[in-house]
Amino acid sequence: DGTPESDLAVVRSTTTRPIEEVAADLGLTPDDVEPRGEGVAKLTLDAVRSATADATDGTTVLVTGMTPTPKGEGKTVTTVGLGQALAALGESTTVAVREPSLGPVFGIKGGAAGGGYSQVLPMEAINLHFTGDIHALTAAHDLLAATLDNHLHQGNDEEVDVRRIHWPRALDVNDRALRETVVGLGGPARGVPREDEFVITAASELMAVLGLASDLEDLKSRIGRIVLAEDADGDPVTPTDLDVTGAVAALLRDAFRPNLVQTVEGVPALVHGGPFANIAHGTNTLVADRVGASLSEYLVTEAGFGADLGAEKFAHIVAREGIVPDVAVVVATVRGAKRHGLEMWPTDFDALADPDPEAVRAGVDNVRRHVEIVESFGVPAVVGINVFPDDTEAELAALEDALVDDGIAVARSTAYSDGGEGATDLAERVRNLAGTGEFTPLYDVDEPVEAKIETVAREVYGADDVEYVDGARDDVDRLEEWGHGDLPVCLSKTPYSFSDDASLTGVPEDWTLTVREVTPSAGAGFLVVKTADVMTMPGLPAEPAAEEIDIDADGDISGLF
Ligand code: ADP
Ligand code: MG
Repeated sequence: DGTPESDLAVVRSTTTRPIEEVAADLGLTPDDVEPRGEGVAKLTLDAVRSATADATDGTTVLVTGMTPTPKGEGKTVTTVGLGQALAALGESTTVAVREPSLGPVFGIKGGAAGGGYSQVLPMEAINLHFTGDIHALTAAHDLLAATLDNHLHQGNDEEVDVRRIHWPRALDVNDRALRETVVGLGGPARGVPREDEFVITAASELMAVLGLASDLEDLKSRIGRIVLAEDADGDPVTPTDLDVTGAVAALLRDAFRPNLVQTVEGVPALVHGGPFANIAHGTNTLVADRVGASLSEYLVTEAGFGADLGAEKFAHIVAREGIVPDVAVVVATVRGAKRHGLEMWPTDFDALADPDPEAVRAGVDNVRRHVEIVESFGVPAVVGINVFPDDTEAELAALEDALVDDGIAVARSTAYSDGGEGATDLAERVRNLAGTGEFTPLYDVDEPVEAKIETVAREVYGADDVEYVDGARDDVDRLEEWGHGDLPVCLSKTPYSFSDDASLTGVPEDWTLTVREVTPSAGAGFLVVKTADVMTMPGLPAEPAAEEIDIDADGDISGLF
């Protein structure tokens, strides 16, 4: 399953179409795309502008999922497979997914380009550097950090309080040794000493800013609003105060333009942006979604983790910016359901490999609850069962029958092994359900911050109550004073449970959500509500994926998946 050999075998046996031909499927001419190596192009700014000039009219399919195991239940695979299936049914379709971060590529999870016969190509380029967007973000992020430290060094006109600097440094490598550090050591010529920290680039607020910006002007205004630090009066210090907004935006000029590639079956795919799904909204860029939904009949896009995180954020953060889901797929797996049936934490993948239909049946509650969450936004849902090669028929039937008994739409997908053909049933369900609901968010942004948090905690996560600790209530007061109270909330919580405790499996009851800190991502346009210490700089595991990756004299890379 998802082995480097199998994914690589597919990559090597596939002949891709020239990227101009893929672009033509979207009605784009060769002048609308700027080739960036074989099978990769950036859309030109003119093409982006004309595609996003009007409201989009294509059908938007949001792929979300059940509570995942740490290996992922196959949302990206299903997104790509479903896109291929819709295309095979004669619908013009664009797939939109996030750009992989180098951290997981060399760490635990591996690449994020799908797998088997449902992946985006060229897999190696996409997983390694790609068109340089993430590097541009790293540079832009660190330019802000450097400007801030230089401001301290040059006399600190803005009276920045060095104890209240919120802007970290960024790097796209998992490096736990940099989580907490000290900068500016070595005397007056080397800056002002202070504590600092590093985040992985995907966790930078600039990634979320890029992900939600509608055009370059909007990108600039969002950058200008970022709260970098506080001054002596406790007021925010922003890039605008440091006169650096334009320079940071200039570094992101090309990164703003979506990247066009293709799936294994030659379906257009936009791979663009990659924000975290807990401290940020966790989906590919808004601009890629708008281009896809405007230039094709179907846009299939993925949101991170389960529906409690990804779909909720899509509904309350992304949809407000102009891309509304018409139908959603909730990806579920036998192993995912079994983990809940066995009340297992941490996840023991060897134990999950033992066939156990009873445990699968006992875990279906979790899947059902994710369906209810999607439906609570007025979005019709179908469960896509992502079939793994070793799943037994008895287990698959247990999952499927329990959902069907509840009147939930469900279709199996073997898109990993069979490509689009394996997702035909799912595609037909999606076509039938699309547009049968009416999208409605659960809260209005102008409600008080605590009311918005409570709505998500109770109505989405199923909490009984919300508790504020460690000054989180003061955080809320301060944000409201700064004028950011009318932003949507972005809750940061473990993806492995509906609750804020990863060991609570299934559908936890009788629990209270603990809010520890509320911080503004004023540039991105949301308030981050932290329920735990969030890991914004992952570490490498005992056996990093990096140990399997190699390159030969011909430049062929092995070990990526
Ligand atoms: P998500 O997007 O939900 O995190 P992915 O689609 O990235 O999940 O899948 C996680 C991993 O599992 C990937 O390595 C992928 O190749 C593999 N995988 C997903 N679905 C299957 C399947 N049906 N059979 C085998 N491997 C799969
Ligand atoms: Mg994914």
